[in-house]
Amino acid sequence: MNRRNFLKTSALGLAFAAAPAVSLSAADAPTRRTAPSGRLNLTFEPYELKLRHAFNLAKYQRTTTPGVQVRLELDGIVGYGEASMPQYLGESVDSVSNFLSQVDIAQFKDPFRVEEIHDYLDNLMPNNRAAKASVDIALHDLLGKIMGQPWYKIWGLSPEKAPNTSYTISYNADPKEMETEIAETAPFKVVKVKMGLGHDKEIVEALRRQSDVAICVDANQGWSDKAEALEMCEWLAGQNCLFVEQPMPKEMIDETAWLRERSPLPLIADEFLQRLPDVVRAAQAYDGINIKLMKSTGLHEAHKMAVLARALGMKVMLGCMTETSCAVTAAAQLSPMVDWADLDGNLLIANDIFDGIKIVDGKVTIPEDRPGIGVTLLDA
Ligand code: MG
Repeated sequence: MNRRNFLKTSALGLAFAAAPAVSLSAADAPTRRTAPSGRLNLTFEPYELKLRHAFNLAKYQRTTTPGVQVRLELDGIVGYGEASMPQYLGESVDSVSNFLSQVDIAQFKDPFRVEEIHDYLDNLMPNNRAAKASVDIALHDLLGKIMGQPWYKIWGLSPEKAPNTSYTISYNADPKEMETEIAETAPFKVVKVKMGLGHDKEIVEALRRQSDVAICVDANQGWSDKAEALEMCEWLAGQNCLFVEQPMPKEMIDETAWLRERSPLPLIADEFLQRLPDVVRAAQAYDGINIKLMKSTGLHEAHKMAVLARALGMKVMLGCMTETSCAVTAAAQLSPMVDWADLDGNLLIANDIFDGIKIVDGKVTIPEDRPGIGVTLLDA
């Protein structure tokens, strides 16, 4: 199916999906919606995300992110999902397409058997976390639409407890560009600063010339000397910094534990951890975890990770990749459970095709009146 038809069909599905959500009364909901008789149909197509600014990370630079858009349809109701594949995750359009083309979702007669569907996806092939996330997000969107409720409600969460989100800046050698990036942080209460490229203090100093906003720091494994990492943590503690994400290479567990003993700022694991079992390992060296749907295989396991981290007394952060509002809004449904959110992925791209999460006064704002993951398709 070409892109135009893909979106057109998607939009049609949405029209079907949106109508019951607003008109369905509590009384008639169970009789009309709980016995789906049709067949689950999964379709997908590549969609390249174009970044508004080149992303300068500790290990490389990029201007686009490959993605795959997914739709899961049942009885005219469409759930949207998405895979986003930044280079370091090791997935690609080819690997995601290959995985999705092998998924036989139609074998599941009851889409509410989420646990079974996840077991099936995990047994189909190892890894492929973003590919699995794309199915999971579309499935959650579909289920929420069938139930006529957004996921924050299904999980029993209070949307007003959603945290502020940070907005990300990275070092730019061109001072004018750097200034422009910093100016764009004005609506946000927290700015995430990407470090580990050898210009760490320069970025903060450039920001401080324009703003005293709270910051959090993501070193992206860029500090490999523990004494220097400690010195940076101590310096950052005097810069209105909330926490430091992935200060050292993920393999340096002992050094990170050493740093945690001494750092005045909490250390958050990102690259170190992917899925649920990693949360327990992370507790040995980190104060908190950064959950991302593209690592966790989607919402189902992300929710479990947040619950487990809380039970272990850890801080929880919710992040994203560069993604459209589809995956970012899906993640936002979980945001009332977390301490910090870094849900700016949709704001960093120039070609979003969904409307969803809004940032109001720096705070994550979940669309309250939309079932499922809370998005509508823009480009239809
Ligand atoms: Mg990170």
